[in-house]
Amino acid sequence: MNQERNGKFSLKLVQKCPVCDGDYRDGRIDILDEDERGFLAYMTCKFCSSSIIVRVATLPNGLVGNAILTDLSNSEVLDYSASGRIKSNQVLALHELVSSGGDFIEKLK
Ligand SMILES: [Zn+2]
Repeated sequence: MNQERNGKFSLKLVQKCPVCDGDYRDGRIDILDEDERGFLAYMTCKFCSSSIIVRVATLPNGLVGNAILTDLSNSEVLDYSASGRIKSNQVLALHELVSSGGDFIEKLK
């Protein structure tokens, strides 16, 4: 089975809306990102308009997928996806900010 057929098959696993139990096959499915390792899809329920993000990765021993409910629009998902990974020095900078004492909320402003 090739990658293309694997991906389409895995989307069929997500058939029901987790909010209203509506059928996603009647709703809207956007493939936001796709590469040789898998794809990112955004699905909107036609009945209650809730949306989920589905990430499917192809591994040597099969497919791994997860889905989360979101209130982001599909363009916002792409914006966050393009902003890249969190780098270790960003985490260290945040740690220094938190551990240096004082009012954390004030510093964040
Ligand atoms: Zn729904």
